[in-house]
Amino acid sequence: MIPKSLFDTIKQLDSKENDLCGLCFQWGLFSKKECDRCKTPLRIVSCKNGDNYCFECPNSKCNCHFSIRKGSFFYYSKLSLNVQIEIFAYWVQDIGLDTVHELTNVSKTTIIEFFNRFRAKAVSIHLKSLELEPLGGNGKNVQIDESLFGHAKYHIGKNLHYPSYWCFGMIEEETGRITIMNVQDRSEYSLVPIIVSYVQQGTTIKSDQWRGYSNLSQYNYHHLTVNHRQNFVDPDTQANTQTIESNWNSAKSWMRKKHLRDRSKYQEYLYEWCFRHNCHFSYSEIWESLTS
Ligand SMILES: [Zn+2]
Repeated sequence: MIPKSLFDTIKQLDSKENDLCGLCFQWGLFSKKECDRCKTPLRIVSCKNGDNYCFECPNSKCNCHFSIRKGSFFYYSKLSLNVQIEIFAYWVQDIGLDTVHELTNVSKTTIIEFFNRFRAKAVSIHLKSLELEPLGGNGKNVQIDESLFGHAKYHIGKNLHYPSYWCFGMIEEETGRITIMNVQDRSEYSLVPIIVSYVQQGTTIKSDQWRGYSNLSQYNYHHLTVNHRQNFVDPDTQANTQTIESNWNSAKSWMRKKHLRDRSKYQEYLYEWCFRHNCHFSYSEIWESLTS
């Protein structure tokens, strides 16, 4: 049973009746493992380390013991399990670094390491899902659009420090699954290879009349456009890009709050936002996805 909310998580962590290791298995944070040497499924036994339990290989020739944290997010740190689970819960809830530091009294450097680990997992889940099932398909519709992120609209105050990035978004109308890529520019040369990689052939693609998209029908897509100088919705085909456009503000304001200075991290954070979006920004969905 995945915890329903941050509140639920903290309440259960604080309850003296709950056995922490048991909770970790119940919440998907720990999972049964097999022995590295003989591949026999390990059993859980009590032992006198800080966690109170460890894995033991039942094969008498082997007699190995492994940390109960083996293969989990919590294998690498000496922090108490309780605090590590809290940090995980705060990340799932998307609580900022400064607040997590205040709440846990753990150093920011350590929290950043945890956050990087969680984000890396989220990114790999997001990319794996696109690889296994690209957007669209026969009878399905994908809206595409490009937008300038981090743009200093007013050259006053903090915004001045943020460079701008062209981002390219694709969203499946039927499911709301989205992905966003940071691109060098919005030329046909940059955009078409991304579309071909992430959108299945036979999909109906909807876009504005940007010239970068003008040859899409040559790649086995049905291509519908809307002329934004005249309409938001094409009067004949009903084609529009309102779903992808309505996500730009949300993604941009989330990215701004991360105060990224390092361009090399930009794409990872975009994928993190997409991962959260595709989990409907739901605490339990995000938790479940990261732990299954
Ligand atoms: Zn063994």
